[in-house]
Amino acid sequence: MSSQPIVLAACPLCGGSQARELAVYPELTWVRCECSLIYKRSEQPDPAAAEFYESGYFGAGDQGRRYTQRTRRRIQKSRNQILDLLNHVEPGPLLDIGCSVGYTLRAARELGLAPTGSDLSQYAIQACRDQGFRAERGELSQLPFAEGEFGLVTMKHVLEHTADPRAAVREVRRVLRPGGGVFIAIPHAGYRKAVAAPQASRYYLPSAHGREHFVYYTPQTLTRLLEQEGFRVVAVNPQLLHRRASLLRRAGECLLAPLRAVAQRLADGLQVRKEFWLVAVRTETPPVS
Ligand SMILES: [Zn+2]
Repeated sequence: MSSQPIVLAACPLCGGSQARELAVYPELTWVRCECSLIYKRSEQPDPAAAEFYESGYFGAGDQGRRYTQRTRRRIQKSRNQILDLLNHVEPGPLLDIGCSVGYTLRAARELGLAPTGSDLSQYAIQACRDQGFRAERGELSQLPFAEGEFGLVTMKHVLEHTADPRAAVREVRRVLRPGGGVFIAIPHAGYRKAVAAPQASRYYLPSAHGREHFVYYTPQTLTRLLEQEGFRVVAVNPQLLHRRASLLRRAGECLLAPLRAVAQRLADGLQVRKEFWLVAVRTETPPVS
């Protein structure tokens, strides 16, 4: 055991403390629980942490006058993700947690949904407000919104950033109305390179994502967490057909579906997915604990 201050004394999924070291650096230590969840057990304080989520995090390239191809691609990806959610949930007000500079909010507006954003960064909030969106600064464990205010929540590359994912998931459930749903995109702990050589993986290295991330999930571990907190997982991975897409698009999707199905099975088999997508619906049953 190292002398690093403890970040997570127990597994945030099963509560157990039987975990094996997975990747150990002078700055921090990653472990893998018996239940297969991967989390950061200990870490030296990071002098750069306080400024992490301010302007530098978002890059300067997509701001202001520049409307780049990349921006368009990001909005399109967000649109696909919202359509995945709308396969299972009725349209309604949408909250994007970790809204950054508003790609998902723009996609939601294009789809005719009323979007709201939240983020830790004042810079991000201001960027969204400048585009006419409602956006509020807020912690994952204490979202600044009323109970049942939203029908849809999107949370992309957010949940891996908290050491208390259970609190975050409970907050999502609180702000969702009954029958509402959440879309989650998150790094895949089963990604081939991270599994084969954890010590050299960008997932764990302090110089890459090791500082900013706390937990790595597979569809199985994330499903377990969500089910314990009053959600039912209804889809994993990008969906092939979207019932709320335009007619033209649905025709294209029908044609491409068999090919895309094969591509997805290959990606799973070869473990080349760096992220996975998941849709979960809020159940009537309250959390078990
Ligand atoms: Zn565990």
